[in-house]
Amino acid sequence: MSFVEASMPEYVLSEVMKQGFEKPTPIQSQGWPMALLGKNMVGISATGSGKTLSFLLPGMIHINAQPYLSPGDGPIVLVLAPTRELAVQIKEECDKFGRSSDVKNTVVYGGVPKRQQVQQLRAGVEIVIATPGRLIDHLEIGNTNLKRVTYLVLDEADRMLDMGFEPQLRKICSQIRPDRQVLMWSATWPKAVEGLARDYLNEYYQVTV
Ligand code: AMP
Repeated sequence: MSFVEASMPEYVLSEVMKQGFEKPTPIQSQGWPMALLGKNMVGISATGSGKTLSFLLPGMIHINAQPYLSPGDGPIVLVLAPTRELAVQIKEECDKFGRSSDVKNTVVYGGVPKRQQVQQLRAGVEIVIATPGRLIDHLEIGNTNLKRVTYLVLDEADRMLDMGFEPQLRKICSQIRPDRQVLMWSATWPKAVEGLARDYLNEYYQVTV
């Protein structure tokens, strides 16, 4: 499949072309159609496979496809990641590939003061990339809310569970409307990850590369 066959809108294609990417990676050509159809999906795939763009580009399209943006300043796309490093990496991809669309993003993670994160959250964003613990802190203080979230990504779900984030993940998922689209990514498929998928994705497509 080529990028053009992937039916990506111009504002996405132009950024992909600027990077000189020749064609979608296998996880992208398999994942995009599912993600763009609004399906829940589980991607079993390692870092380096191009998985970040396989959920970010459909996420940007999801935002731009909203018939009208419901009022509010909370995110429409929420990406949860286990570590600060991964969260920052996702934000960087988001900045790079979101240049042609008017989508604001921010990243929040623990271990640093909250002040700057609060300003950015309160200014209003469409995409929030977060580590689970820090997001809950912000939610509890009222710095943001999940009322507008309709596209949820759980990146490196196996690592998030290994790090003990299951209660936080469940708490966050319980605050998001039930008809959201969920995309879950994991390098491995242990029972605990399967359990999470069963509880929060209902029906889903699984893509393994
Ligand atoms: P990831 O697996 O998301 O960490 O991506 C690994 C690297 O591959 C990142 O630097 C991406 O920018 C890059 N990448 C993503 N999609 C493609 C593609 N279709 N062709 C070439 N490189 C890509």
